[in-house]
Amino acid sequence: MDEVVQALSDIVKMNTVNGAEKQVTDYIAALLAKHGIASKLVEYAPDRASLVAEIGDGNGPVVGFDGHADIVALGDASKWQVEALSATIKDNLMIGRGTSDMKSGLMAGVWALIHLKENQVPLHGTVRLMATVGEEYGQYGAKQLAKAGYVDDVDTLIVGEPSGVAKQLLMQKQIQYMLQIDQAGAQKLADANQTNEQHFIELAHKGSLTYTVHSKGVASHSSMPEIGKNAITPLMAFYQKEEEYFASIKNYRNPVLGPVTPVVTMVRGGEQINTVPASADLSVKIRTIPELPNADMTVAIKEIIADLNAAGADLTLDILSDLRPMHTMETAKLVKVAKTIGEADLEQKLPLIGVPGGTDASSFLAVNPDIDVVIFGPGNITAHQVNEYVDLDMYHRFITIYEKMMTELLK
Ligand SMILES: [Zn+2]
Repeated sequence: MDEVVQALSDIVKMNTVNGAEKQVTDYIAALLAKHGIASKLVEYAPDRASLVAEIGDGNGPVVGFDGHADIVALGDASKWQVEALSATIKDNLMIGRGTSDMKSGLMAGVWALIHLKENQVPLHGTVRLMATVGEEYGQYGAKQLAKAGYVDDVDTLIVGEPSGVAKQLLMQKQIQYMLQIDQAGAQKLADANQTNEQHFIELAHKGSLTYTVHSKGVASHSSMPEIGKNAITPLMAFYQKEEEYFASIKNYRNPVLGPVTPVVTMVRGGEQINTVPASADLSVKIRTIPELPNADMTVAIKEIIADLNAAGADLTLDILSDLRPMHTMETAKLVKVAKTIGEADLEQKLPLIGVPGGTDASSFLAVNPDIDVVIFGPGNITAHQVNEYVDLDMYHRFITIYEKMMTELLK
């Protein structure tokens, strides 16, 4: 096993299901130190630390590289063909939780820095590697790094999240739908592809706004409602006004991401069947697009609440999460560099697409909206599934791609 595969295998074996990421960041810190690159751990909680490491002469732009060290739950052990954290290699595929999402992407970024340093490649500017904690469950690490100023000066960001799909899956209808390509387009991509995996450069993803509206009333026996105050009634009034607002925004549309999509996901109210309800609440998740900023929607929701409260309701808004959408222009230098280098090194055409999910980039863009971002990494859509794997051929190719991109961006 060569050293780059060994290092990936070592960190895949570490159980970082929503925690304990310090094992991985300690490992990366030691590996970087061995190759003369200093790094800093940023503690989030005991056993949880993000890592920041830099190379370059500092005289020029800042290229960020982001990868998260946490993984999602292992899933049903009986459905895995190997033990989920065994990093078993079969037919040049490494199988295991986190191989695709995204320890291979993270480790590819680490090796890119090491190779650039070892080969003394001139870098006019800074490459800043950021390995984060808690991405899958709220982007805790990215939020902490953003707050501490680590992305204030970042110009471009490569997020090494998985961007591939096994080539034979291109012929499946649901995959074509997801990628917004037709049968002929899929066939063309497959024919032009000299490898086993088709990749995409992801330029955009939706943001999200998640909130709960609480309604407070006064409980009383249902035989004497006049001495109580029903919490459900004003919440239903809120629901009506909110639906009118949602109808008014349905024409906002992003060319890549599509429309803004609000969904009322939970309603809960009342305590028991013979009591005037003292509390009720309603929760909403909105998938958002740049054309209608989260902040504008928050203002509109607050206005509805203020109007109803002025008329006697007792409603409060609790914003649970507020993540920006991301949309980098196709004309950005970062995109051109990724496409030119990626197409040559992956021996395939690389379509530019939008994806439904979010990444650490949302938390970075919240403090620095000017960062150009691409999501482009060695894994594939087996992320979050049983028998997740990474194609080691792709892992090797992406190390080279990242080296070349960083070199080109800091020429
Ligand atoms: Zn991920």
